[in-house]
Amino acid sequence: MTRKFRKPCVQEFTKQQENDAGIIMSIHSDPARETMNCPVCKTQTLLPIELENGLPAYHCETCSGTWLMSNEYLRWLKNQPQQAVPEIEATPSLNLDVPIAKTCPNCGYFMLRFDVLPGHTLIVDRCSNCNGIWFDHQEWDALSARGLHTRINEFFTKPWQDKLKSIESHQKLDTLYREKLGEADYQKVREIREWIRKNPHQAMLFAFLQSDDPYKI
Ligand SMILES: [Zn+2]
Ligand SMILES: [Zn+2]
Repeated sequence: MTRKFRKPCVQEFTKQQENDAGIIMSIHSDPARETMNCPVCKTQTLLPIELENGLPAYHCETCSGTWLMSNEYLRWLKNQPQQAVPEIEATPSLNLDVPIAKTCPNCGYFMLRFDVLPGHTLIVDRCSNCNGIWFDHQEWDALSARGLHTRINEFFTKPWQDKLKSIESHQKLDTLYREKLGEADYQKVREIREWIRKNPHQAMLFAFLQSDDPYKI
């Protein structure tokens, strides 16, 4: 995707903002440094761009990574229409991460890495001090294509990370059962399980199945 370059602008900041889900995103109020270097390429200066309409960001021309200030993101987010929460779909696995520890181009703190999508190597780096966010090449576009670019703030919360772990563990066990039982038996046992769970005589069905001789009193 080609990005429109822009001139650096004077930014407005608030001390604390809260999104509709009640997640406090940022208490950092300093403006972005005038010159910031790419956290991947180190010496390449980040250039100001307009990432989306009305969303200023900073772009590395060498590695195509993108830096986003949290206050600018929040201000843009406030003007975005409410969208239905998209389900995370199984898609061919993406591997977009540049797997190195990065330091914040804005304040120099180490950035924390957050897994975002189950089954994909899409890891967003976030500064624990100024809350700025780094997207490696194509990460923003991959999130945007899934309608997740308006939910970035949720990635750093426990509910999102817990959901991610739960989906990943489900996927792992699903693969394991399929391998061990074989496709036909796995499907059959899943159907039986569903039938038992919905049956009003669930306890009796379990007892019948588990008993060596269900006709013996
Ligand atoms: Zn770079
Ligand atoms: Zn920072």
